[in-house]
Amino acid sequence: MNLIQDLLTINEYSRPGTKLKKVQGIVVHWVANPNTSAKANRNFFENRKNGKSGYGSAHYLIDLNGSVILAIPPEEVAYHVGAQSYRSEAVKRLGSYPNGNTLGIECTHVDWNGKMTDKTYESLILLCAELCKRYNLNPLTSLYRHYDITGKDCHKWFVNNPAEWEKFKKEVQTKMTGTSENKGIIKFEYEGRKFEIEGIFKDGTNYTPARTLLESLGFNVGWDNQNKTVLIKKKD
Ligand SMILES: [Zn+2]
Repeated sequence: MNLIQDLLTINEYSRPGTKLKKVQGIVVHWVANPNTSAKANRNFFENRKNGKSGYGSAHYLIDLNGSVILAIPPEEVAYHVGAQSYRSEAVKRLGSYPNGNTLGIECTHVDWNGKMTDKTYESLILLCAELCKRYNLNPLTSLYRHYDITGKDCHKWFVNNPAEWEKFKKEVQTKMTGTSENKGIIKFEYEGRKFEIEGIFKDGTNYTPARTLLESLGFNVGWDNQNKTVLIKKKD
């Protein structure tokens, strides 16, 4: 992922220069202008300093070619989720001023559905994974669409395709851990007798406690602490 620092001038409309509190969420946006570059949208934020186009900005902008512009340092506030009122669920999690403790990422896109290029999408996954790691955030609960916070139709692609949004968050999680992991019930069948044990399915392998499995198969299981060995005996 290619990150280019191209900071906005400090100004009251798009880069107030105020300190961000502890990062508690990452908010994903679309630029709502198909086939425009990250640089053009960054310049739009910059030109707000003239006071003629209102307030608004974001920390990161991802280009159609996948490169990322850093427009506002992640230690500072950006104006990306301000609103008259917020969804109650968001207020519960982020407090009454989400601009004060979230980072904003603007995604470019190729049409009015908000469809992104593969390169933009891939960089969005990488950037979110990196930020979730850096700020110790769970991607499944700390990644937000602008929509989740204010109800605005943004990022439109993810608002109209909620399954894609769920898939996206899981892809960020996979990128962070390098593995896909599912906790759940593992089913076994032994000579016609069926039983289930709680376990983890990870990287194509079932993990389940050896003792639980062996006892389910009818063995006596002990532990030799001196030799760190599981002792398995046939029941008489
Ligand atoms: Zn937005």
